[in-house]
Amino acid sequence: RFVSLEGGDGAGKTTQRDLLGAWLTALGHEVVLTREPGGTDLGSVLRDAVLHGDDLDPRTEALLYATDRAHHVHRVVRPALARGAVVVTDRYLDSSVAYQGAARDLGAGEIRDLNLWATEGLLPDLTVLLDLDPSVGAGRRADAPDRLERESAAFHTLVREHFLALADAEPNRFLVLDATLPPQEVHAAVRDRLAAMLPE
Ligand code: C5P
Ligand code: MG
Repeated sequence: RFVSLEGGDGAGKTTQRDLLGAWLTALGHEVVLTREPGGTDLGSVLRDAVLHGDDLDPRTEALLYATDRAHHVHRVVRPALARGAVVVTDRYLDSSVAYQGAARDLGAGEIRDLNLWATEGLLPDLTVLLDLDPSVGAGRRADAPDRLERESAAFHTLVREHFLALADAEPNRFLVLDATLPPQEVHAAVRDRLAAMLPE
């Protein structure tokens, strides 16, 4: 089973991924917790380039994310799924569709196609969208500042709106949760949805 966590900065994706990991491990599943960008050694280099590079144009940025994703799927995600592990990733291709496709205006359809090509069409079984007002997220975010912190509130609002539109378009894949709820409540809702999908 393949689960992705999506949402803006500070929505609690990493926290929910780790809570999910502990729960799944206790249930006896092999669990692989990972993230994008930066889920492989090459990915760490790409992450640094895309977050801290100077003067990246939107197409270069989109291709760096897609490269990171192609390698991550090849090296980490598909091998783990083939062993029967549950893979939980902090961000996946919906982030590219929302950030590069919609907010950077490259075209959501084209960015989706690029990433389906990069991943040979691998979509998550479940995508949890942690929905949050970006002005709340900015204050919650713990990481060091990067290029995205210089983006306008309007940029982050576009990202949020596009995530919600993606969830509307694929209700069977998405679970949308209010990220202002306490982490344990969010986690309980994720568990409810995932429980029915798990292998024996
Ligand atoms: O989630 P994480 O903190 O690793 O994301 C790093 C930064 O990259 C965030 O500021 C996020 O907004 C941005 N990002 C992006 N496009 C993506 C994925 C992440 O602009 N496809
Ligand atoms: Mg995080």
